[in-house]
Amino acid sequence: MNRPRWPRLTLFIVACSLFAPLAWADGETQPGRDPKQAVDETYTAKMKKYTTEPFFTSPLVNYLPASKNVPTPEAVLGDVAGAPGILPYAKDVYQYMRMLEKASPRVKVFSIGTTEEGREMIAVAVSSEENLTKLEENRARLGKLADPRTLQLNDAEADKIVAQAVPVYYITGTIHSPETGAPTALMELAYRLAVDDSAYVKEIRDGTITLITPVVEVDGRDRMVDIYKWHLAHPKEFYPPLVYWGKYVGHDNNRDAMGVTLKLTENVMNTYVHWNAQVLHDLHESVPYLYDNTIGDGPYNAWIDPILADEWQMIGARNVADMTKFGMPGVFAHGDFDTWSPGYLMFIAALHNGVSRLYETFGNGGADTLERTLEPEEYARTWYKQNPPLPKVLWSQRDNNNYEETGLLVSLHYFNENKRTFLKNFYLKAKRSIEKPRTEGPAAYVLPADERRTTLQLELLRVMQKQHVEISRTTSSVTVALPVKKEKKTSKTTEKKEAKKDEKPEPTSRTFPAGSYVIRMDQPYSRIADALLDHQYWSPQDPQKTPYDDTGWTFGELHGVEVARVTDAKILQAAMERVTELRVPGGVKGEGNVFAIENHAEPALASLRYRLKNADMQAAEEAFEAGGRKFAAGTILLKASDGVQLDAASKELGLQAVALSAAPNARSHPLRVARILFIHSWLGTQTEGWWRLALDKLQIPYDYASTQTIAGTPDLREKYDVILFPPIGWGGSLDSIINGLPMDWGNPLPWQNTPLTPNLVGPNDATADIRLGLGWDGVAKLQKFVNDGGVLLTVMDTSQFAVGIGITTGVSSSHAEKMKIVGSVVGTRLVDGASPIAYGYSEKVAAYCDNGPVFSLSSIAGSRRRRKLGPEMGERPTGRGTKDDPDFAVGRLGMEAPEEPETEVWENPNVTDEQRHNNSRVIPPAMRARVVLRYADAKDLLISGLVEGGGEIAQHPAVVDALYGKGHVVMFSINPMWRGETQGTYSLVLNTVMNFDSLNAGRKNDEK
Ligand SMILES: [Zn+2]
Repeated sequence: MNRPRWPRLTLFIVACSLFAPLAWADGETQPGRDPKQAVDETYTAKMKKYTTEPFFTSPLVNYLPASKNVPTPEAVLGDVAGAPGILPYAKDVYQYMRMLEKASPRVKVFSIGTTEEGREMIAVAVSSEENLTKLEENRARLGKLADPRTLQLNDAEADKIVAQAVPVYYITGTIHSPETGAPTALMELAYRLAVDDSAYVKEIRDGTITLITPVVEVDGRDRMVDIYKWHLAHPKEFYPPLVYWGKYVGHDNNRDAMGVTLKLTENVMNTYVHWNAQVLHDLHESVPYLYDNTIGDGPYNAWIDPILADEWQMIGARNVADMTKFGMPGVFAHGDFDTWSPGYLMFIAALHNGVSRLYETFGNGGADTLERTLEPEEYARTWYKQNPPLPKVLWSQRDNNNYEETGLLVSLHYFNENKRTFLKNFYLKAKRSIEKPRTEGPAAYVLPADERRTTLQLELLRVMQKQHVEISRTTSSVTVALPVKKEKKTSKTTEKKEAKKDEKPEPTSRTFPAGSYVIRMDQPYSRIADALLDHQYWSPQDPQKTPYDDTGWTFGELHGVEVARVTDAKILQAAMERVTELRVPGGVKGEGNVFAIENHAEPALASLRYRLKNADMQAAEEAFEAGGRKFAAGTILLKASDGVQLDAASKELGLQAVALSAAPNARSHPLRVARILFIHSWLGTQTEGWWRLALDKLQIPYDYASTQTIAGTPDLREKYDVILFPPIGWGGSLDSIINGLPMDWGNPLPWQNTPLTPNLVGPNDATADIRLGLGWDGVAKLQKFVNDGGVLLTVMDTSQFAVGIGITTGVSSSHAEKMKIVGSVVGTRLVDGASPIAYGYSEKVAAYCDNGPVFSLSSIAGSRRRRKLGPEMGERPTGRGTKDDPDFAVGRLGMEAPEEPETEVWENPNVTDEQRHNNSRVIPPAMRARVVLRYADAKDLLISGLVEGGGEIAQHPAVVDALYGKGHVVMFSINPMWRGETQGTYSLVLNTVMNFDSLNAGRKNDEK
């Protein structure tokens, strides 16, 4: 609130503005109020009161224009936006937006869908009355720029539209529920945009449509407001952290823009695309005081149009400059966020030809005014932060709202002033996306018609469809040229050529059968398809040493289906038609006594198992031939009596069943319907949330309970066959899984519905105190469950937990020391294809890995893999003769040493005779761990992303079936269920579930 000092002397101020410290360039509109428009004095006084320093506001928001008929946010909040102690529920925010709509022709509210829990999401359009009456007309104009094929890529035609169209700037708030400030800031922003008559705001209103989704994570918002209310009612106590946000995930809701598995992503995606918006600006609150992070640091996403990188700099630099001129400290761009992953919500715009933006402002995680002390790196002045935040300040939600609104207003104004440039860029980026096959390649991605995993292929195509990518299908076969691989230049070229003489020459062409799916790159949204289907490479030498998120995500690899990158433009001439409805033909073929369904590790098989609960299903343990056809091990067999229901279910699921005249002469075992208990820890529910989402989508039922309930379950084995214990993520150590949060001090942290917190418990779980962990009784119960023949499935940190409580016979687990595999796609190799866990998988399996852990096997209980002391004795010692001669001792004949058998890293080490002597700890072969998948050799580990120092995990087990008592602990070092992206590895989990009581099938015991 630094100006004006004499509010009544408005004329004086206007005259003085020429000499004011804010030196705006010639012809630019001065930010600040219209002296002719009355100010809402009481509202303005309160804003001033809640702003903790005069420099934490700006001439754009240090007053609120008065209106006779349009209500201010006070009408709903009971106080001004950003007032201490006030956090509105989503419904309050919506109520206000709808009051605005009623009172002003400049506001329109649209329902854009619902959340998983059925709560509404909205988008609020604010613009001049004229713009809002011509919304559809304008949308059609923008649609032509969005798809330049409608203009035959004619720049002159585009320019005509660019000159007329009104652009759309889309703002989204509070996707991260503990970042609470955006809804009130956006309520007030909507009011200002509708009411303010200052030249500055009027220009925005007349020239641009501002579209606002005030609450993105609606389910999480309502929980967060509950918690805040609980906190207000118990001011002296600790209050629970937001354990659940939406139904499935928390913070990762902003990592879903690739897979589009959450409703909130889908709703924002559809809104963004439907409105043909130019900008998607997402609001966050974790950095002081305003970090425009889209400019960030390298590496930038490799698939964005360079025009976008320039747009980021343009808007971001101007944003920082304007706010710096207002005297607001701590506004900066760059910083250490890289823009590599396209998983962020804002990135919907980046790869759909718009401009992605993201603010981190400073939030207090509620509406309390708090003294905040920063870390030295936060307040340090750096090259990109010349006016850094202060080391220690009193900070209020109003301060945060001032920053958010000021940033948005200067951005909107700058955007509006340069809208012809941004609209032209919008068109150009779309045009360049269409020209991609010719200018940069590839021409297309092809998903061949002869894919075995048809349902997974379909899932991948569904992701493309959600991304608004056009899909075509060939109507005849097409042959394309394959790119010629360049020989690497080495000094040993001649030697190499010699060696290669006998090898088959690389194929130079490839024919795709009719019915192959084609993702053409000559379409407006080719870039998102390219970004998801291509491979990623993050160099270990990259100056950026701390990737912000996953570094690899190649969707074809992670879905376990073939995706061919085709550079030959001939593919685009092939006969093909657009596909809008995606279906895989399924059902029963022929008549016979038995039905066989091939197992290609498709998750739909598990859906079938649970859908036909009463059917007698068997799994063939070996390959067989029937009716002139070969079937691999893992083939699922059903009796003829189940044919009718099988036909209906398999049609729905896209699975094909073949009738056989007689049951095949192959060993088989029943696939019983496993009773699943899915356990979570109160330490964190997000990483397991992706697992719940996967199982729910497949309609696989499970009981869901916390680790706290384990101790209280009298007999786990009697109730359940399989316990899934997915990764916990942050804080999932052995100590905290067992002991939970500190109990010796503090107060209970309840997660329960009460009149004060009616939204806290949604479809998930409740407890009187989230602090309690599994406890030692729980450990004993879990041990007993496995000992009694149950199957416990553990992943990453929960695998380390299983090792820690001593139920993984012969398997140890450690953290890699220097290795860096940051959310990458890695290669694994099938070790034991006879294990039911591996049914349907082939030799090479791509998997998602985030730094391990590193599993090692031992054939001696309680010991780690043999470690040799002293120097490696691989070569002969110093002595007589040549390098290859045996050693020699004077005065006696030499003796040949017995050969020491070698074992591979992923194998159970051989036990030597010396070790075996009187050693009760030697694990009998039948009790040794069985490795299903191992990591590939170091040189083959990287498929996509960053792998540095991969030698530490190369060849080590990736999925291992450990025995304990009568049961199994199936341990994962990879994460097979992650962000809806890894559907190709889901079946490793589902096979474990379906074959829970036959996991030893096909087991070979090496006697050594
Ligand atoms: Zn955030």
